[in-house]
Amino acid sequence: MKILITTLNAKYIHTSLALRWIYVANKNKYNIRFQEFTIKEKLDEIAEIIIEQEIDVLGIGVYIWNVSKVKLLVDILKEKKPNIKIILGGPEVSYETEYFIKNWDIDYIVSGEAEFVFGELLDDIINNRVIDNIYIAHKDNFNAKPAVASIEKLEKLDSPYMLECDKGALQNRITYFETSRGCPYTCKYCLSSLEGNVRYFSNEYIIKQLEYLFSHNTKTIKFLDRTFNLNKNHTLFIFDKIKSLYNEKTICQFEIYADLLNEKTISYINEFQKDFIRFEIGIQSTYDKTNKEVNRLQDFNKIKENVILLQKAGVVDLHLDLIAGLPYETYDRFKKSFNDVFELKPKELQLGFLKMLRGTSLREQSEIYGYLYDLEGPYEIYKHNDLSEEDIENIKCVEDMLEKYWNSGRFIRTFELLTSYFEDENRTIDYFDLFYKLGQFYKRIDIDKFQYHLHEIYKIMYDFVLNIIDEREFDIYKKALFEDYYSQFNMRPKRFIEPTLNGKEKKEFINRIILDEKFMNLNNLTSIILYKYTYYEKINEHSYLLIIYIENKRQIIEYSFK
Ligand code: SF4
Repeated sequence: MKILITTLNAKYIHTSLALRWIYVANKNKYNIRFQEFTIKEKLDEIAEIIIEQEIDVLGIGVYIWNVSKVKLLVDILKEKKPNIKIILGGPEVSYETEYFIKNWDIDYIVSGEAEFVFGELLDDIINNRVIDNIYIAHKDNFNAKPAVASIEKLEKLDSPYMLECDKGALQNRITYFETSRGCPYTCKYCLSSLEGNVRYFSNEYIIKQLEYLFSHNTKTIKFLDRTFNLNKNHTLFIFDKIKSLYNEKTICQFEIYADLLNEKTISYINEFQKDFIRFEIGIQSTYDKTNKEVNRLQDFNKIKENVILLQKAGVVDLHLDLIAGLPYETYDRFKKSFNDVFELKPKELQLGFLKMLRGTSLREQSEIYGYLYDLEGPYEIYKHNDLSEEDIENIKCVEDMLEKYWNSGRFIRTFELLTSYFEDENRTIDYFDLFYKLGQFYKRIDIDKFQYHLHEIYKIMYDFVLNIIDEREFDIYKKALFEDYYSQFNMRPKRFIEPTLNGKEKKEFINRIILDEKFMNLNNLTSIILYKYTYYEKINEHSYLLIIYIENKRQIIEYSFK
């Protein structure tokens, strides 16, 4: 019997640890292989590739990002090859198995941690036995209990991190790594709240895997632990280990609860090499009433304090998360959450929208809060009692601008000026309004939301700044925008506004610089460089920028007339 396990990852760079675990747990006993696709690939082509392999059983990992696509894939496969047995697994299908068994054309669902139960099911299928397993749902048993795999047994398997087939890809893709399973918290909107007790992998096991991953120059190790810093000893043990393995190539990402950090740990982290670790900190809301309602216990003041301590050292890359649409959070209260968090100026602020995940208690209680949401995955909300559809539209507009203009990191100098301009206490506009206004401005321009060019988004920002800033202050923004834009390239790009000097002015300017020997020598300039390889931008009568692109390198120099 030929078995294939697969999933549709969100992007090629992502890898599925779950598939690898199931594979190593079953490869010595069954004729099994695994293959990953992405949600961007055409379903017909994926189906074709699967069918060509003439398999008997197909296992598919279902997640929030692929649930709608997997449904379509299952339909295509069952139409073209009705005899294929399809087994679903993954968090998306684990907690409402009855719905999927009744509504999807599938045969089985393995609920929870599937490594060993999947093999038990294969055994039953091969031997034509009646399936009588509490962790497996099927047409005669709609409900299954989520399985919990023994960590001890997992550690005895071949390592899912050391597969020969992955060796070449470690340097290019994200490797997901777990040092524990489970979450002790019960945030009402999160599926991990159903996972229960935290179980840790042994230190010896973790050391062996990390040594392998670092010695193979793995690009990114993303620790999957739900709240990585829950246990202080465990946290320090991992930090010690990765610090000792530092290789200049590998980056480690962790999801942490920032208010659980103490000063001692922060000082320790702040001695790490720069850009070696990245923290993702879920804040979700700064409104106590909302956090209490969704069982999220956190102290925003403490988070803020710790984030500031981390930022001061500038060693850790910080990404903060917010969720729009949580209970009781009105539009204005969400604006406050946004402003509270944006004030910390994280490198990235991820603004997500609440999803009513199957199995979560928030979904079960959705009527209490008046939630209206998409019944098909990814179950995004449309509104609730305190947030209208229009409010959500407006927040989406802010999120779009946040992604393009802040999280992209392409407007660092411009934002430094813009935010300090709006931090002036005499102005009434806040950060949220700034992104909202930019979004309104953006909407007026006829530009493709997804396939835009860089010069177009810079032009929009240029016009926007011109529109809102006092004209007398515009020069410094102009300079910042030019520097932000030109530093994105190593070759001469298309200009985002008309040239600021005409041909005659440019010639006069070059002649003037050539006479300034001190400037020419200091910057190693020659007249060939000035004529052939340089862009000129006039900031004002006294100040100019020279942007030089030679041999895939860029240099931006300011020239000022006294
Ligand atoms: S949101 Fe985080 S802390 Fe809360 S239950 Fe989910 S994983 Fe645990």
